[in-house]
Amino acid sequence: MKYFLLAFSFCMLTIGIEAQDYDSYFINKTLRVDYTFSGNSKNQTVSLDQLCQLPQWAGRKHNLPGLPRQGNGQIKVTDLKSGKCIYKDSFSTLFQEWLDTPEAGAVRKSFENTFLIPYPKEKVVVEVSLRNKLGIYVTAIKHTIDPNDILIKKKGLKSIPDYTVVHKGSSPDINKSVNVVILAEGYTSSEMEKFRNHAQITCEALFSHSPFDKLQDRFNILAVETISEDSGVSVPRENRWSETAFHSHFDTFYSDRYLTTTNVKDIHDAIAGIPYAHIIILANTDVYGGGGIFNSYTLTTTGHRDFKPVVVHEFGHSFGGLADEYFYGGDSFSDTYPLSLEPWEPNITTLVDFASKWEKLLKPQTPVPTNIDLAGKYPIGVFEGGGYSSKGIYRPAADCRMKTNTCKDFCPACQNAIEEIVKFYTE
Ligand SMILES: [Zn+2]
Repeated sequence: MKYFLLAFSFCMLTIGIEAQDYDSYFINKTLRVDYTFSGNSKNQTVSLDQLCQLPQWAGRKHNLPGLPRQGNGQIKVTDLKSGKCIYKDSFSTLFQEWLDTPEAGAVRKSFENTFLIPYPKEKVVVEVSLRNKLGIYVTAIKHTIDPNDILIKKKGLKSIPDYTVVHKGSSPDINKSVNVVILAEGYTSSEMEKFRNHAQITCEALFSHSPFDKLQDRFNILAVETISEDSGVSVPRENRWSETAFHSHFDTFYSDRYLTTTNVKDIHDAIAGIPYAHIIILANTDVYGGGGIFNSYTLTTTGHRDFKPVVVHEFGHSFGGLADEYFYGGDSFSDTYPLSLEPWEPNITTLVDFASKWEKLLKPQTPVPTNIDLAGKYPIGVFEGGGYSSKGIYRPAADCRMKTNTCKDFCPACQNAIEEIVKFYTE
């Protein structure tokens, strides 16, 4: 396939688009765009799989071409007639993580990815770009969508699944709320009371953290009782395979605790017709693990004693676009974050562009970097170790929800970043 270089800030030129413009360009429905991302470590292809129409739009109707995070990929919607950028969003994918594994050097694989965009009134150009190792967003697919195309599938009109409201925010306007849906994975029909309880615990865990506690009025959280044939989820290293709603499994990329699903379309099919923008999937197992992919989903296990901190940690990834602040012992180094580039995640830095990070939160005279022995004097600093590397990547605090399960809360930089993103979606 042919790549086109793209200046990722292109949309910034048209950032003046205002809330009232939603009605000029969109109707109150969702266009669900399903793609297949495929390839190997050398070259990648994005292909259109299918288009679907959902009966309502549960995302923002303001800040339409703005981006709270750059992400590992971006989707941009341009009005065909005027050439104006009318919507933008960012994301990360399991596919891009897989590209860093040895397997990606040996074989081509494909992954499902689904994006939700407001339903356009007129023809639009949709462009998906992926961030390469140089930090440049390269166009992977660019195509026109005619909203009147008769082959756009209508979903979520009949047999909408039942849902319960776990938490209701105070805004009557769902487009000024963060709409989260919690799904059941590995719960049989007779285990739904347990699931409802776990959904409630998820909500309580989230709102026991700052700044979710003070912003809880801005969240609507629904739970959908998606039934699995088998109880529990698949654990390949133990040769345990279960028939579950979303076919999730541990050992993703041969990493024990990495629990994911590649059946992304099944997730979205299960909740078609329900107002949602963010997804949490609860897995009914006591095996430790989870995964959180920015603007895709959080998936975590409920039977483990660390259920509460882990579900909040993973939501930090999938909702907040936060990086892991942990690293492994010794001189561990991971090339997930090249040291010559500033990562886009708000809670780690390579010091290439620290001013764009939490610099404004530092007390005057805080040494940069900050020796860990000074963490008592400078609770917010620039401490070496984070993003899986013990050297060259720095984190904001000695400890954080994005570092350990024992820490009580997010560090101040993460709190700040979460607050910023909640406000982006709701103001
Ligand atoms: Zn943090």
